Amino acid sequence: MTDRTRFLFRKSAGRGGVCFVCLVLAFSFSACADNASISSPSAKVEFFAMNTLMSIEVRGAEAEAAVAAGRDEVYRLERLLSRTDPKSEVSAINTAAGSEWTEVSEETFSLIQTALLYSEETEGAFDITIAPVMDLWGFSSGEHRVPDDAEIGSVLERIGYEHLLLDETGFRVKLENPGMSMDLGAVAKGYAGDRVKEIIKQFDFETALINLGGNVTVIGRKPNGDLLRVAITDPENRQQYLGVLGSEDTHVITSGGYERFFEQDGKVYIHIMDPETARPAQSDLLSVSVIDSNGVRSDILSTALFVMGREEAIRYWSGHRDLGLVMAKVDGEVLVSKNLLGTFRVTEGKSVTYFDGE
Ligand code: AMP
Ligand code: MG
Repeated sequence: MTDRTRFLFRKSAGRGGVCFVCLVLAFSFSACADNASISSPSAKVEFFAMNTLMSIEVRGAEAEAAVAAGRDEVYRLERLLSRTDPKSEVSAINTAAGSEWTEVSEETFSLIQTALLYSEETEGAFDITIAPVMDLWGFSSGEHRVPDDAEIGSVLERIGYEHLLLDETGFRVKLENPGMSMDLGAVAKGYAGDRVKEIIKQFDFETALINLGGNVTVIGRKPNGDLLRVAITDPENRQQYLGVLGSEDTHVITSGGYERFFEQDGKVYIHIMDPETARPAQSDLLSVSVIDSNGVRSDILSTALFVMGREEAIRYWSGHRDLGLVMAKVDGEVLVSKNLLGTFRVTEGKSVTYFDGE
């Protein structure tokens, strides 16, 4: 981590520590959509789920029913996918690590299967077996600590997506080794965004704005036909925006070290891990936003591309040009994929580069 990054974190950290307070701020100030766009929403729910604040806002004839159904769907997914709920399917898999196969629902199975495909595609930058590393650094309990080299060496033996086994014939999952554990924290909210979007579309509605802890999904257009606008948080100053995106039926999902971190002896340790080192990712990026119609893909890739860093992220984009990418570099520059020209308006005064591949 550079001196500049350290300074930026200190500036935005305020109290140095993290967690609940920062998550609340992340919700209030992060990629929230332009509320003026929906000046008189018919219904809105705000709730706490998946360890973060969420809101669902719908305009339309069945708005009340739509927001309630959306919230219930998030709660259902939390019960299925949470690592901390002992009754969830993920907990059942984790408890049986190193011993038995666990039969899960087709839904959980297919989410895990997708996560594994992206682990392969990103050469391990994305890895849902990262849970023991999160525990080791105290991110799971909130009791943050910097582990020593021996602990790092030992935790590395307990992670690795290639040890996550799938049996397609019976929707069975197994973590091969004892002490392994699964954490869907980098994909569950994206999946929830997809599901809530699908559910709202079953109702009579015009416009919807879903904010799952800073992961924003918009559906439909403003009453006057204009696109809804989503602002992407400036990681250097979370009360400001990197820029604003005009969107329709899109997910805008952001990963950044600024969302959760702790500081010890003047060093900042973020919650996005490099599975190769079992240490916080040493990214040259402060945040990565992925804009796509598929929430699972956006969520996975925002995390993975953050870990990969600028050069590899741009290389990845070169082979997946349908994605929209907005990345904040540690030196303050904003990198925007060329396909967002005319869609993403960068805040005045920011230095911006539009990239068009490697
Ligand atoms: P996100 O905010 O979507 O980037 O997800 C970050 C969360 O995903 C962390 O809080 C961890 O629970 C988990 N995580 C951290 N590093 C990784 C990684 N390299 N691959 C997959 N999940 C990760
Ligand atoms: Mg993610």
